Amino acid sequence: MDNKKIAVVTGGSRGIGKEIAVKLAEEAYVIVNYNGSEEKAAQVVREIKDKGGNAEAVKCNVASFKECEKFIGDIVERFGKIDILVNNAGINKDGLILSMSEEDFDSVINTNLKGTFNCIKFVSKSMIKNRYGKIINISSISGVAGNPGQANYAASKAGIIGLAKRIINVNTIVPGFIMTEMTDVLGDKVKENILSQIPLKRFGTPQNVAELAAFLASDKSSYITGQVINLDGGMIM
Ligand code: NAP
Repeated sequence: MDNKKIAVVTGGSRGIGKEIAVKLAEEAYVIVNYNGSEEKAAQVVREIKDKGGNAEAVKCNVASFKECEKFIGDIVERFGKIDILVNNAGINKDGLILSMSEEDFDSVINTNLKGTFNCIKFVSKSMIKNRYGKIINISSISGVAGNPGQANYAASKAGIIGLAKRIINVNTIVPGFIMTEMTDVLGDKVKENILSQIPLKRFGTPQNVAELAAFLASDKSSYITGQVINLDGGMIM
C-alpha cells in the first residue's frame, strides 16, 4: 500500500458517489461504501482496478451509529488512518408535510444528517491524531433554499451545512440538479421547470461533483476549510 492516501466514500455504489470514488482512486486507495447495492459497488471496484487504481467495497448502513463505529474503526485499525472522508450517502422521500409519515421524516434525517455525523464522529479521532484529514460533505441546494415537498430532505441537508466545521479541512459541496437515479424519477415537466432556473442551461453531471470533490480532497486546497461551495450551474447566486 506504500504511503497511499486512504479515502472513504459513503454511498459509492451509484451516481455521484461512484464518480467521486473513481476520481479519488487516481490518487488514493478507496473504500467504496454501499448499503443495498452490493453488485454495483463491486462493479465500481472493478472499474477502479481496470484503470490501474485500487479499492474495495464495504457494506455499512451510515444511518446506524453502531455500524459506522465498526465500519470506520475497522478501516483505521487496518490502515492506521483515514485521510479523506466523503459523506455522500443520501436518500430522499419527498412529500408534503401534511402527508409525510414519521418514518419518511426519520429515515431521511437518519441517513443524510445522522449518517454524516456518525462518519465524522468516528473518523475525527484518527484524523486529529494524524494531524491530517479532508472531510467533504455533500449537501444540496434544497438545504440552502428549501424546496416544496422536501421538508425532511431540506432539513437534513441544511443540518449538514451546520455540522462540524473545525476539524482539519471540512468543506461542503452544494450540488444543484445532477443527473443520477435520484433525479431520473422526476417528470419531464418538473425537469423543464428546473432547467428554466439554471443560468448555464444544463443539468450537472456526477463528474462535475467528482472534480470539485477531488480538488477539496487534494493538497491543492490545503488552506480551504469551513466553506460551503455551490455547484449548481448558477441556480443560486
Ligand atoms: P443516488 O444515485 O440515489 O445514490 C445514492 C447513494 O447513496 C447510493 O450509492 C446508495 O447506496 C447510498 N446510500 C443510500 N442510503 C445509504 C445508507 N443508509 N448507507 C450507505 N449508503 C447509502 O443519489 P445521487 O444523486 O448520486 O446523490 C448522492 C448525494 O448527492 C446524496 O447525498 C444526495 O442527496 C446529494 N445530491 C444529489 C443531487 C442530485 O441532483 N442528484 C443534488 C444535490 C445533492 P446503496 O444503493 O448501496 O444503498
